[in-house]
Amino acid sequence: MYCQVIVDIAHSQVDKVFEYSCPAQTCAGCRVKVPFGGRVAEGFVIGVSDSPSFDASKIKPVKYVYDEQPALVPECFSLMGSIADRYRVPKAVALRLFLPSEMRLGRVSEVYTKYIKLVNPDISLGKAAKKQAAAIDDLKGGDREFTSFCQTFGRSAVNALIEKGVAEVYKVRRERTPMPGEDEHYSPVALTPAQSAALYSISHSDKTVQLIHGVTGSGKTEIYLSYIAEVLKEGKTAIFLVPEISLTPQMLRQLRRRFKGQAAIMHSGLSAGERFDEWWRLRSGEAKIAIGARSAIFAPLENLGAIIIDEEHDSSYQSETAPRYSTIEIARMRAEYNGCKLILGSATPSVESYICATQGQYGLIELPDRINKKPLPEIIIADMRSEVKRGNNSPFSRALREELAQTLAEGNQAIIFLNRRGYAKTVICQDCGYVAKCQNCDVSLAYHSEENCLKCHYCGAKYHMLRACPECGGVHLRYGGTGTQRVVADLKGLFPSARILRMDNDTVSGKDGHYKILSAFGRKEADILVGTQMIAKGHDFPSVTLVGILDADMSLHFSDYRSGERTFQLITQVAGRSGRANEKGKVVLQTYSPENYILRYAVNYDYKGFFENEVKIRKATNFPPYSLICRVMVTAEEDKAALEVLKEVYFAIDALRRADEEEFIFFNKMHSPIKKIQGRVRYQVLMRLKSSKLLPRIYDIAVRSSTTAALAYVEENPANLS
Ligand code: ADP
Ligand code: ZN
Repeated sequence: MYCQVIVDIAHSQVDKVFEYSCPAQTCAGCRVKVPFGGRVAEGFVIGVSDSPSFDASKIKPVKYVYDEQPALVPECFSLMGSIADRYRVPKAVALRLFLPSEMRLGRVSEVYTKYIKLVNPDISLGKAAKKQAAAIDDLKGGDREFTSFCQTFGRSAVNALIEKGVAEVYKVRRERTPMPGEDEHYSPVALTPAQSAALYSISHSDKTVQLIHGVTGSGKTEIYLSYIAEVLKEGKTAIFLVPEISLTPQMLRQLRRRFKGQAAIMHSGLSAGERFDEWWRLRSGEAKIAIGARSAIFAPLENLGAIIIDEEHDSSYQSETAPRYSTIEIARMRAEYNGCKLILGSATPSVESYICATQGQYGLIELPDRINKKPLPEIIIADMRSEVKRGNNSPFSRALREELAQTLAEGNQAIIFLNRRGYAKTVICQDCGYVAKCQNCDVSLAYHSEENCLKCHYCGAKYHMLRACPECGGVHLRYGGTGTQRVVADLKGLFPSARILRMDNDTVSGKDGHYKILSAFGRKEADILVGTQMIAKGHDFPSVTLVGILDADMSLHFSDYRSGERTFQLITQVAGRSGRANEKGKVVLQTYSPENYILRYAVNYDYKGFFENEVKIRKATNFPPYSLICRVMVTAEEDKAALEVLKEVYFAIDALRRADEEEFIFFNKMHSPIKKIQGRVRYQVLMRLKSSKLLPRIYDIAVRSSTTAALAYVEENPANLS
């Protein structure tokens, strides 16, 4: 037998198929160890054949076959080519996406528990062997877990028993169930007419992609789950993506409740062992639904019947590390390969997706009402300029304070949203204007009151809090920009008896960190939840009747064509947390620019108005999707190395531009807005292109220009232009 192998080395020069001879049981999808250029390398078998394709005497044998069952599903070999072509990465890098990282590089980690059992109790022991005798006695009571058994009776006694053939060790594969909650009873709900109609049009549409635009609380989740139930009935499988699985424990619970052990989670917060087990349950066919964040799009499922992407507008669906793939694009490839539906859902679809839906490329399902026609919460705008004029320098408007007091008095819960962690964003010297900055990054340091230190939010570096200004020695230091820690401190001052929880990157540690805070709040162990972006996602807390958005226009002022869209989405999402059950909800939206049109649309939940206006602007100014923003980033530790590569990239693209000036709307090279992150300087060639036709060549330029000292890579319509 012979096999075709992709060697697991991420280098363009070895990005081809190599042939080896192999044992008969080897099959496509297995991982192997092969001799490669004087070393041993890992590889993926992508095909097998009975006869060699060239001189058999020159073909080396595979050294080792890792898998009895192939690790990769057959679909990988088709997707591998598409992904490698599209994002210009070696095929090995494309294949890696389909395996949990702990399976690669020999770190095969099926986790076992070792047990010891008695096999021959009658062998006579020496007189001195008291411990051994005691151990045998213990084993007569049943098999024991090996590690603790050794602790009790001593390693040498246990080894002696094994050597004498008295006892034997055996292994059992350990099943780890992350995030329990399986035993809850599931009672089906009757679908509303709108939900049934949605399901009908998904099933009967001839379009692969279906966009569900449904306001928060309109019952989208129930549609997803019902559709999954349908495809499972047909013997098929499903992938269900959410922006961040740890932020949506309720979604997981619902899935578990309904589908029990058929659902498996793919989630970076799990331990390596848990991750592997869940992956294996999917690969072996035991589990049929993969739920997870963007990387779960690579779930090892065959015979897919549905792919669902909830909150499809969320920027986490764009990968920010190589390969920089768009999850929706990969999902489409998989949906087309499997001939199944891709369902995108959101209360605030991305402008790109909604255009596709209105132009007929996607099917469109509109759910304008909440379940039971429950009203959307009323949004009150608080003008912070007039608050400041009145001498209110606290983070809370009068309106928010009054609403908070009332909510607490009624025994309901409130959520306060502010997308900035720490106590203050910056520390400034009032005498000379000095701002504390990170040594590794070109950003200011945030003050964290709990640890009384300064922290860099880009590289995580910690610094001692300043006693005096290092520039002028002045001692009048001022905090700029309120963060969540200060909000909690101030709230405690205003409402001393209120119980407050905070949820941001500093408070959620460990794999269950999010889950613990959210479930404590869900159990009403706190009255107010203060948090960043992570509290905006699809939580469903019935007692929350007030949401405060402290700095609604923070994201409006980013110099990004999507800042309006982001702001609209954020307000709608956060507001959607309020008044989901019986009581009516309210939202107080604090802003320094109350007249801004984005806020006006958001207050009225006018997605269509927002969308039409946004499309007009994008068209008139030639911004995506009416153009493509393409950025080639160049990063390096040394300025010189970066500049050399930058120059090369720039001239190569400039040559493209000269040959096709029409295609370029904008083209320039410059420092990136943040000039340094984690000790690496950052430069960019930024362009706006009429179409994607030059993209493959720009990717090639980046690959070709990268050196060991400086990395060049391409970003398409990056979510973040810093
Ligand atoms: P969305 O995903 O659109 O935000 P959900 O699916 O979370 O909305 O539904 C909002 C609320 O309505 C949830 O509490 C859910 O349990 C409830 N719900 C959904 N569908 C139905 C139904 N058919 N009958 C009764 N309640 C429903
Ligand atoms: Zn830093």
